[in-house]
Amino acid sequence: MKSAESKSEAERHEANSDSPPHLLTSSPLQKVVIAGIRVDNLSEDETLDRIERLVSSGGSHYMAVVNAVKVVAASRDSELMRALAKADLVTADGMSVVWAARLVGRRLKERVTGIDIFERLLERATARGWSVYFLGAREHAVEALVERLIARHPRLRIAGYRNGYFETNESDSVAGAIKRSSADLLFVAMGSPAQERWIDENLEKAGVKFALGVGGSFDHVSGLVPRAPAWMQRAGLEWLHRLVREPRRLWRRYLVGNTLFIFLIAKQIIKGKTDRDAMAGNS
Ligand code: UDP
Repeated sequence: MKSAESKSEAERHEANSDSPPHLLTSSPLQKVVIAGIRVDNLSEDETLDRIERLVSSGGSHYMAVVNAVKVVAASRDSELMRALAKADLVTADGMSVVWAARLVGRRLKERVTGIDIFERLLERATARGWSVYFLGAREHAVEALVERLIARHPRLRIAGYRNGYFETNESDSVAGAIKRSSADLLFVAMGSPAQERWIDENLEKAGVKFALGVGGSFDHVSGLVPRAPAWMQRAGLEWLHRLVREPRRLWRRYLVGNTLFIFLIAKQIIKGKTDRDAMAGNS
């Protein structure tokens, strides 16, 4: 049998198709396209079950999550767009994506954030005996995360961890270290688009069964950076919470990102209407 390392992308997808199709692939009703990005229409529980099946199906798989800023970034960055298109699962990290789905006439069951899946996968990994590797954030943050997780989940198998500050030419050795650790799951918290690109380029080399890009989650779960209160999360205002904490770094990202997101969704709505009118005219 070929090792996961030597599998091509096509083979990876073929590996998925060994399992019953309804378990691993999305039917048209199970996805919503937002500005050219396929978003899986799954609840949080369904996402976890899908991941569990991916883990046991063989090969290497990955999941990405999207918010308004990432959708806009992907519309201008073909590498990011390709990494999202190749992901086995993509879910809505931001409420804006759930609202956008409604505006284009579709419904997403719920928001499925990277940080929530991260925390619930840690519980499942503890229960199943899957080993985990943490890649990303500053050294003190990833250390604090590991310390906190050892206290919270004493039976969690931690294969290793590494901070997310390294040069591109070190990627091979980082992926090699993950491979040698024999980790089953890999969590990458290097911000976007770095984490999506890194996973896309190094997944096979790292040889993990499943990888997930989790943005700033190590900083939050370690307890170093507070997450927005639940009401702000529900109201789709998590970005505002972050903006208030780090206005200088983030104002441009959110002002430009959120405005362009509205523009992209308006474009999709108008195109959908024009296409429907054209079809009505032809019939
Ligand atoms: N980060 C990293 N390597 C880098 C840049 C950032 O590991 O080269 C980490 C950073 O320390 C933080 C995380 O990536 O923990 C998320 O960063 P950011 O808030 O910029 O990303 P977002 O969550 O908005 O995608």
